[in-house]
Amino acid sequence: MKHNFEQLRLDSVSRSFTNAEGQQLAALRGLDLNIRRGEFIALLGPSGCGKSTALNCIAGLQPLTGGGIWLDEQRIDVLPPEKRGFGMVFQNYALFPHMSVLENVGFGLKMQRVPKADALRRAKAALQLVQLIGHDGKLPGQLSGGQQQRVAIARAIVIEPPLVLMDEPLSNLDTKLRIEMRAEIRRIHGQLERATIYVTHDQDEALSMADRIVVMKEGVVQQVAPPKEVYGRPKNLHVARFMGFRNVASFTLEGQQGEGVAVTSNGVRLTGTPMEGFNSKNVSVALRPEDMERAAPGTENAFDAQAETVEYGGRDSLIRVNTAFGKLWARLAGEVAEGERLSLRVAPSRTLVYDGEAP
Ligand code: ATP
Repeated sequence: MKHNFEQLRLDSVSRSFTNAEGQQLAALRGLDLNIRRGEFIALLGPSGCGKSTALNCIAGLQPLTGGGIWLDEQRIDVLPPEKRGFGMVFQNYALFPHMSVLENVGFGLKMQRVPKADALRRAKAALQLVQLIGHDGKLPGQLSGGQQQRVAIARAIVIEPPLVLMDEPLSNLDTKLRIEMRAEIRRIHGQLERATIYVTHDQDEALSMADRIVVMKEGVVQQVAPPKEVYGRPKNLHVARFMGFRNVASFTLEGQQGEGVAVTSNGVRLTGTPMEGFNSKNVSVALRPEDMERAAPGTENAFDAQAETVEYGGRDSLIRVNTAFGKLWARLAGEVAEGERLSLRVAPSRTLVYDGEAP
């Protein structure tokens, strides 16, 4: 199966495991997802939310316990992995240590009995794409982690798969290399013009690489949207917390306030942006530490705070503050002393209001 596709469709895909006590544990609960030609999709969520299970189900490494997967008109969840022919890149590279770089990359073609001259040409082209020409004869052990991961990527793409699946491919690299490799993988994806599904628990990675992010929690999709939307308009409190809205406090809804809503708690009145319909007066306000700024008392959304602890971070500091509506994290530039009284604010557009009490 070599053709590029218009749509990969996951229709209510479920996957359960039976534990030692014989109980059924659901790793994926009715996953619906449409992936379009050439898209870069990130599956994002905390450890254990089912990201790898989803990827393995698409690859054919794990059977589904419910639902189906379609590549255009063809149902593929009934096919073995080699018939699906997707390229896979794992966290641990999984290279053959006794084979040269070129042999590693050419291995899949050899298995497919591609004629030697053609296989060599394609392997070299894949190495060129990942910028490893000149390292052909080396063994994986003679390469850095970043270079080994490039070999793994070349090996995955040399078979010209309709879809490339990557499971936390950068986790074993140091921070600097990880950031370089993000751009590199995006570049390779762009040149291939094939879809990529990329599993990560790293929000920055997903935000910087993906066309669309699928945020998951406990086997259930929470939001599917482009990075800007997931970052700026998280669909629910879970996504908000995961995307950095570390402060969540309970407030009481007062009513409409201009384009936003007014909320109060212990004498503090804020204007915020409603993120969903409200079922009662009990609401939750989510604020990012990075969105806090110093403000003159009396300005819109200003509230009093007292610094409890200050974690110095160079360019800015992470400060634990006490307020009338609870303890918060604030990230502020400039000097702040422990015990100092501050007046802080968060713009109404960055003050997100969700239905229900803060859990
Ligand atoms: P991580 O980032 O830690 O790999 P993940 O989001 O990829 O996490 P999965 O590996 O997909 O999560 O696991 C989802 C759930 O399924 C977890 O609760 C896990 O314990 C369970 N699980 C995964 N594989 C198996 C297995 N072979 N047998 C039993 N349970 C499993």
